Amino acid sequence: MSDNTSVALRLPAPRPAQQSAAAYLRHGQTPFFRLPMADFDRPGAAPYAGADAVLLGVPYDGGVTYQPGARLAPYHVRRTSAFVQPFHTFHEIDVFGALAAIDGGNVAIPPFEPEIVRHLVQTEVSRVLAAGATPFLVGGDHSILLPALRAIAARHGPVAVVHVDAHLDTSDGEVWGNDFHHGTPLRHALEEGLVEHGQLHQIAIRASVGSPDDASFGRRFGARVHPLDEVAALGVDAIAAEVRRAVGLRNVYVTFDVDAIDPAFAPGTGTPVPGGLTSREAIALLRGLAGINLVGMDLVEVAPSLDHADVTCHLAAHLLYEGLALAALRMA
Ligand code: MN
Ligand code: MN
Repeated sequence: MSDNTSVALRLPAPRPAQQSAAAYLRHGQTPFFRLPMADFDRPGAAPYAGADAVLLGVPYDGGVTYQPGARLAPYHVRRTSAFVQPFHTFHEIDVFGALAAIDGGNVAIPPFEPEIVRHLVQTEVSRVLAAGATPFLVGGDHSILLPALRAIAARHGPVAVVHVDAHLDTSDGEVWGNDFHHGTPLRHALEEGLVEHGQLHQIAIRASVGSPDDASFGRRFGARVHPLDEVAALGVDAIAAEVRRAVGLRNVYVTFDVDAIDPAFAPGTGTPVPGGLTSREAIALLRGLAGINLVGMDLVEVAPSLDHADVTCHLAAHLLYEGLALAALRMA
């Protein structure tokens, strides 16, 4: 008996929502989630026209204080996101059928010019919003949150922010002599009025801090902190339900720092803090936010060079998929 040589990959007719797995295997490269790429040659400079959601890679880690590497995340998360299929079995929705999502490519930035990076990220997110689409940023380090939120607030006004992180990210320039880095985006966002008072929800916080009053800055703006201990005691479903009640019908931006998750589940990150969320809790947390009015999301601080077996990159792809599902639920 010879092997069955008649077996061939089925190559179905191209579908607009998501490229088939076989087509991806054939050419070996993928946009995020095998989605169509934005058409940058489209006349009228409207590459995002008709999209409900645009994924943007931001290959930048010039805001990192210790271990760099997050600039390579967009490339690796594209690769691992190819594994994700359209049908979401928990929400029972065809995510890419309900949501016209595309890959907007990477924001093309000079990685050594932080101010220009902020300008270009804000400009690109503004373009996505102007097209009526929801931006999903794949970092990059957490400093990219500030320009993203500037664009979001310019369009929507101050929003509610769900911030999942081991760190508060409201530090100042005291330590480094520069207060634009990945430990400060929320300080600027609060000071600039990009976040509605009382609508910063910080979840899974647990890192050691420089002084006992590190959380006092956020408190002045009514920030609500759900430390990891509280999440562990009450469970992620209860935390998600509380956040959902608190944000109500507001526009919500979700900023997800992968170091919120335990390094055992997400080792590929620059400032790991032991004792974090499990992958399952992180996914359940996002699922528990179903019904919120999501106006944007980022997934930041994935550092592929520190990863093992793509664990963190696979998780990042799935967390983004959960965010896309939240947006898809709004379309259904
Ligand atoms: Mn962090
Ligand atoms: Mn962070």
